[in-house]
Amino acid sequence: MCGIVGYIGSKKATPFLLEGLTCLEYRGYDSAGIATIEDNKIEVKKDKGRVKNLYDLDGIDSLVGTVGIAHTRWATHGKPSKDNSHPHLDNSGTFSVVHNGIIENHNELRNFLISKGYSFASQTDTEVIPNLIHYYFNNGENIGDNKFLSAVKQAVSDLKGSYAIVVMSPLFKDELIVARKDSPLVIGTSNGENFIASDIPALLSHSKNFYLLDDNEFAVVCKDKIKFYDINLTEHRKGIKNIEWDATETGKNGFEDYMLKEIFEQPNSIRETIGSRLKLGENCYFDDLEISEEFLHNINQIYIVACGTAMHAGLIGKTILENLCKIPTTVEIASEFRYRNPLIDEKTLCIYISQSGETADTIAALKLAKSKGATTIAISNVISSSITREADYSIYTHAGPEIAVASTKAYTSQVVLIAILAIHFAEILNSYEQEKLEALKADILDLPSKIENILADTSKIKNFADKVYTEKDMFFLGRGIDYAVALEGSLKLKEISYIHSEAYAAGELKHGPIALIENNVTVIGIITEPDLVDKTCSNLQEVITRGAKTLIVTNMQLENNCFDFVIDIPEINHLLSPILSVVPLQLLSYYISKNKGLDVDKPRNLAKSVTVE
Ligand code: GLU
Repeated sequence: MCGIVGYIGSKKATPFLLEGLTCLEYRGYDSAGIATIEDNKIEVKKDKGRVKNLYDLDGIDSLVGTVGIAHTRWATHGKPSKDNSHPHLDNSGTFSVVHNGIIENHNELRNFLISKGYSFASQTDTEVIPNLIHYYFNNGENIGDNKFLSAVKQAVSDLKGSYAIVVMSPLFKDELIVARKDSPLVIGTSNGENFIASDIPALLSHSKNFYLLDDNEFAVVCKDKIKFYDINLTEHRKGIKNIEWDATETGKNGFEDYMLKEIFEQPNSIRETIGSRLKLGENCYFDDLEISEEFLHNINQIYIVACGTAMHAGLIGKTILENLCKIPTTVEIASEFRYRNPLIDEKTLCIYISQSGETADTIAALKLAKSKGATTIAISNVISSSITREADYSIYTHAGPEIAVASTKAYTSQVVLIAILAIHFAEILNSYEQEKLEALKADILDLPSKIENILADTSKIKNFADKVYTEKDMFFLGRGIDYAVALEGSLKLKEISYIHSEAYAAGELKHGPIALIENNVTVIGIITEPDLVDKTCSNLQEVITRGAKTLIVTNMQLENNCFDFVIDIPEINHLLSPILSVVPLQLLSYYISKNKGLDVDKPRNLAKSVTVE
């Protein structure tokens, strides 16, 4: 789940490596390290803590090597410490490795290496890799004409689990070797220098041309050429991708934090998601989504599979798809779905949602459904990410790079995209009145200006945050589609403000959790379901009677309003209301986190792209 970078060229590697790590810090930030080749030796500087600590490490300025690798870690094996930080070296100091992923059979490999006389300086799974490379370099066979690559290939063949690695050696100081399986890795290319990173935004200020490494593929990266090899080390040509993202999109643009910037970007990111897919008076259109009418008519069920916030987007997608297309739709957590042998056949459509497109559980769940004959669609924000390469069809949110760990704009774009997809299917299936579909399209086109409206004055939400930020528990209640928003609001609060919170379907509270309601506890209600407004109000009344203080997010005129705070949001078709009602909840978590003095963009224990199980 960490970030890795590499550089090979004619300039000093360190400045790029530090800059790249800073861009990738959202992926992991418990320790960081850098290694360059200096006078035919590997020089390593690393420590526990954030990337910024590296800038002050003794001797970092003396690194002048033009080849280097670096890592910002999210520990899986071995606590965050200097010794466990990457890069790791083999015992002889000949091979240095940065690794993203988990080596599941590391114990077995460690014992094998110990039996051959190797010793270990860290508790990481990663340290077996440089030692295995050393072992095969001296004892392996020679596959092809590059002894370094041959040793890396043999080492990698022993690994079970996931990895993206960059390997560096002073014996081969004109090349870096990269390999991946189930962890992301891209190579950015430019004149006379090449860059390696875990994601594209980290390289945008250096290159617009990328090679996206595939699973079980190797590359030998030199400063002026790159060669690609398959699992048998047969060389092949690889297509280059031109990525037109703007490097400034990944800066903070004057906002104090990425999360706030991304919340305020939502009107624009939604415009980008809509793009030319949806226009009034025309059928919706998706490039690259040639699902036949016959297949759609034959579908007997849809699964939406995702994790975390993306799964919450799926819950709203379920309601929209069932309403518009009349196809039973089930939402599943990817880490459960992949191990529970779900009932899937050729008539099943599975939709997978992942912002990064690298979520390990979601990818595994997709592979499972494909193996059972289902048709798969990936929804992702990252072009050519792993999930989109596995799926039968891929549709992109185009929300722009999302850097804050807590997802905001990617979530709203996911919901918008599923809504457009549902309209597209309903048009093909003729399953919903045309007039109502047109009204829904008009509402989707109005979303950006309605969000602008909410964002125009955030003082009420900030005011509420000021009152409640010291609390220990909060509750989020809603019914129907509002319940899905309650789940997302609660998750945001937990993620970035570390306040314990629970989200409940409002009618479920009295079946147990209402026992937790006591004087002054904060309950946040979401009320946008027209048919359920009275029911939700009654449930809220029940908590008010027991002393709760309430914040309500609503687009209704509430009678007998006895709530402490009400945030009004613009009216809209209730199927789309989550895209508006979530915005005040995102802001609430943000302001609470700020009041508590926490690192909003990089909450503890989390990472942006969850590339481990
Ligand atoms: N499993 C490796 C470790 O714990 C790499 C973790 C990561 O991807 O950051 O060091």
